[in-house]
Amino acid sequence: MKHITHWIGGKPWTGAAERQGDVYDPATGQVSGHVDFASADDVEAAVAAARQAFPAWRDASLAKRANILFAFRELVHRHREELAALIGSEHGKVESDAAGEVARGLEVVEFACGIPHLLKGGYSENVSTRVDSYSIRQPLGVVAGITPFNFPAMVPMWMFPVAIACGNTFILKPSEKDPSTALRLAELWQEAGLPEGVFNVVHGDKVSVDALLAHPDVRAVSFVGSTPIARYVYETGTAYGKRVQALGGAKNHMLVLPDADLDLAADAAVSAGFGSAGERCMAISVVVAVDPVGDELVAKIKERVAGLTVGPGSEAGSEMGPLVTGQHRDKVASHLDRGIAQGATLAVDGREHALPAGEGFWLGPTVLDHVGPQMDCYQDEIFGPVLSVVRTPSYDAGMELIADNPYGNGTAIFTNDGGAARRFQNEVEVGMVGVNVPIPVPMAYYSFGGWKASLFGDTHVHGAEGVHFYTRGKVVTSRWLDPTHGGVNLGFPTNG
Ligand code: NAD
Repeated sequence: MKHITHWIGGKPWTGAAERQGDVYDPATGQVSGHVDFASADDVEAAVAAARQAFPAWRDASLAKRANILFAFRELVHRHREELAALIGSEHGKVESDAAGEVARGLEVVEFACGIPHLLKGGYSENVSTRVDSYSIRQPLGVVAGITPFNFPAMVPMWMFPVAIACGNTFILKPSEKDPSTALRLAELWQEAGLPEGVFNVVHGDKVSVDALLAHPDVRAVSFVGSTPIARYVYETGTAYGKRVQALGGAKNHMLVLPDADLDLAADAAVSAGFGSAGERCMAISVVVAVDPVGDELVAKIKERVAGLTVGPGSEAGSEMGPLVTGQHRDKVASHLDRGIAQGATLAVDGREHALPAGEGFWLGPTVLDHVGPQMDCYQDEIFGPVLSVVRTPSYDAGMELIADNPYGNGTAIFTNDGGAARRFQNEVEVGMVGVNVPIPVPMAYYSFGGWKASLFGDTHVHGAEGVHFYTRGKVVTSRWLDPTHGGVNLGFPTNG
């Protein structure tokens, strides 16, 4: 039985936790460990360590920071298989998928290795006679990241490489459902030479989140998780005067036009709908089939779903693993009967798919057809292996459906018509758009984030917006005095 605890000031925490949570192996349904839940005092200790480390870290040269990032990059890369196995053992996702998330996280580390370039300011000579002006960006201080279960490596790595490269010190509060990866990353940071206290991990639930949100020394909070908690974190954190970016849930539509290649569209819908058992914020959860493609497209999707191998993430050949907890599996499964009761048809029933024996949190891939916008399976973010198909008479009706949906994280159009694709990218009210690409997750040097109820705050994560989020701008106006500058002048300074 594993014991997972906090990482504060460069070492594992040695205190005794007042509360703990169970960590499961989703493939067996068995408890594999216990994770300590931080109290407000434990959070205080992490903030104190991060606060103490900040002055020296903010003054570390850009070259030193970049060198440590390069070393961390090498270590994560070297340990990528071990990290993938660790992720799979607590999350359940198959190893190729876990390896993919480590790779996408590494891209952000690689982006942050360019911090000397990213932090370059501007300089203007002679903004007034012999007066120069320049802009600099400075770190905020102690910043925190609160992350969801579904990407225990990648989502924290959207945040901390950029925050740390910018000169901040960081406290990560990972999901209590799969907490071990965060600790392994802390050890790798230390091996890379990161000074103690620059990266800290506290585990826990609402108590630790609330303590971080209320702490006056925590200057900024990045959050990724479900929409109700994202809204809460944004409202609470900003009420305490913090800078907050809070990324929420999603309902991603894939619009399939009649001229699309339906084989490629069906491949994409199945890959994006059932990869990671649908537990991705960029998963396609709704296929919008524009008449008359519905029947043919659903038939092709069914054919592909029937061939999917559901099994433990650690077994070669498994394409889809279990859900993260038994409770979540039951909630996802409840949508099947409710969908039928509300008028949908069950094109593929995941309960009948060949599933591993035992107590694991299994549910096979499900396709609900003839789904309508009022049904619960359309309204809820199911976050599981359930793909809904909505039939629609036209492009415009499909666009109306997407516009009326409260979420705006990702979307995709499948078509061979360049004009239609261009119109879609221009009109659609969604933050990340794919043209014949079903999971359009931006690269590290762009920024990731949705619109509407999928993001609260002004900035998206990583890329230029990440650097902006973790720094404050300052503009200096400077004059080196000589006798020509003499004389009192009460007028407002102008560019004379
Ligand atoms: P969650 O909202 O339950 O948890 C996210 C974090 O918030 C965790 O660290 C958790 O411990 C904490 N938390 C939970 N309840 C809390 C409370 N009452 N008060 C304060 N903090 C609380 O989300 P999850 O189930 O771990 O992750 C899945 C969700 O995350 C989905 O909705 C998914 O769409 C979303 N997600 C969004 C993105 C994105 O980029 N927009 C990316 C990944 C996941």
